[in-house]
Amino acid sequence: MSLATIEPALPAIAMRAIERAGLTDIAHKVLQGERLTMADGQRLYQTADLAAVGALANFVREKRHGDLTYFNRNQHINATNVCEATCIFCSFSRLKTGDPNAYTMTLKQAVHRIEQLRDSFVTEVHIVNGLNPDLPFSYYTDLLRAIKTERPDLHIKGFTAVEIFYYSGKYGMTYEEVLVALMDAGLDSLPGGGAEIFHPRARRKLCHDKVDADGWIEIHRVAHGLGMRTNATMLFGSIETIDERLDHMLRLRSLQDETGGFQTFIPLKFHADNNALRNLREATGFDCLRTLAISRLMLDNFPHIKAYWPMLGVDLAQMSLSFGVNDLDGTVREERIYHMAGADTPQGLTRPQLIALIERSGRIPVERDTLYHVAAEASQ
Ligand code: SF4
Repeated sequence: MSLATIEPALPAIAMRAIERAGLTDIAHKVLQGERLTMADGQRLYQTADLAAVGALANFVREKRHGDLTYFNRNQHINATNVCEATCIFCSFSRLKTGDPNAYTMTLKQAVHRIEQLRDSFVTEVHIVNGLNPDLPFSYYTDLLRAIKTERPDLHIKGFTAVEIFYYSGKYGMTYEEVLVALMDAGLDSLPGGGAEIFHPRARRKLCHDKVDADGWIEIHRVAHGLGMRTNATMLFGSIETIDERLDHMLRLRSLQDETGGFQTFIPLKFHADNNALRNLREATGFDCLRTLAISRLMLDNFPHIKAYWPMLGVDLAQMSLSFGVNDLDGTVREERIYHMAGADTPQGLTRPQLIALIERSGRIPVERDTLYHVAAEASQ
């Protein structure tokens, strides 16, 4: 493959890096819009030339979105951290009601969080909870109804596939029945959490007692069939192999081919504090940028790649906007799950801070709602 073929689309410096890395054939595929294979993904991970991989991911990012970079104003609520699962990477959960630092919000407490935001222009609440054996299913539907009563305009993105699977087993309902009941009560979309790593070898070690890959995928398939949009995550940098990361991406790509219901892929960097994997070294910045870039290249049917700054770190998230990423999540008020695992990022960024991060990286900030409708081209 001659470099002259791809010359017009990429700057000379990127072409030299791609050639030096031996990735000219992959570059040609990317520029032609051809799908990459598992073997291509392996080669992208094997090269030490991050600039070459980044240039290709940036090409795809700019082809899809130009300089536009999305964010929203969102609030997290984790209504309970009591969870009977035992994921070894988790720093958030407590096994039983009454354990030190275990909590379950009353509906009044949860709604109070929303009331406090009445004047803050938050457009989305993100609800994720532990698998609490002491609560009736009506706790969740009442929670949704109470939030919608307080703020009918708020988009509720809530309940991972792990929770849907748990409710299905515990309350004797099909996935569809659980989802329909939650939608009737006000649920608008599903977050992408709980995917972790799909491959059974790593998943058995990380989280043997929650939904497996097929179950996670089936729940998103059902949600897409009901007209819901969902996201997908991947927890990387713990005990998984590179092939297991690629396997994870390919399983998601396959469901997206079938349903088209995913909006965003969110690679989440593993944090080691306060959990059973505290002796592991966390992923380097190099590995984080490489993984975000390769995600952009492998997931050719996902509209958006998101850098979740509370886990990645603000500086790396900003840098990632040149490595395939086009979404910085949002203001993320009151994030608990990753801060309990040692994330040292701030508790929430303001809208001007997010806008400044995006503008200083040479991109155009766009405030969006959860479904990527543009709220405003933002300026400080
Ligand atoms: S990751 Fe989720 S399911 Fe696993 S222990 Fe933590 S709260 Fe429970």
